[in-house]
Amino acid sequence: MIWGISGEKKLVTENLPTLQCPNCHDIGEVYAIAYCKYLHLVFIPTFSIGKRSKFVCETCQSKVKKKFISAQQQEIAQHLKKSVKIPFTHFIGASIFSILLIIIFSIPSKPAIDPLVKLQTPKLGDIYSVYISEEDDLFSTWKTVNIDEDSIYIFKNKVKIEGEWSFILGKDKESAQMFIPDTIAYTKEEILQMYEEGFITDVDRATLEEEQ
Ligand SMILES: [Zn+2]
Repeated sequence: MIWGISGEKKLVTENLPTLQCPNCHDIGEVYAIAYCKYLHLVFIPTFSIGKRSKFVCETCQSKVKKKFISAQQQEIAQHLKKSVKIPFTHFIGASIFSILLIIIFSIPSKPAIDPLVKLQTPKLGDIYSVYISEEDDLFSTWKTVNIDEDSIYIFKNKVKIEGEWSFILGKDKESAQMFIPDTIAYTKEEILQMYEEGFITDVDRATLEEEQ
């Protein structure tokens, strides 16, 4: 079972010497038991759900109902319950989850940079999604292989795909990135123009380091 409720049994017990078990009729074998319950997840105690008490016969192991217990004896159980301390281990899971949540929320998400900004500050290895045929709805990619003062030098990809190029799906497929080592130069203005005209549709930049 992945999750469930557990009780830590017999944390504190006290014998009720005068009580007769209504089940097996043994006298003096019923114990007041105080214990802690917790919710566990994958066997890790996660949340404490507080203290409990019950009466159990040591001889027949049956639970004795409260109606057989005198008010005075019930007070013994209440007293036991108070003396039980909830073990800190019952909060381990909750602590782990809290820490994980804090970690998850403190990781800065990779800022999405506008393709236009990437084109204005070109980096080596940038891959452009290019809309090579509106008629056939074909897309391909270009890869920047050199950048100087005025120009951007690219390799064209041999592969053409139908529909918009998805960098997430496409870039890791080696077969989808078959760049022809034939350098073609464009001025930076031309590249920006291509983006404005909708020929370049997106820019993929490999790593966060390169963005800085
Ligand atoms: Zn009994």
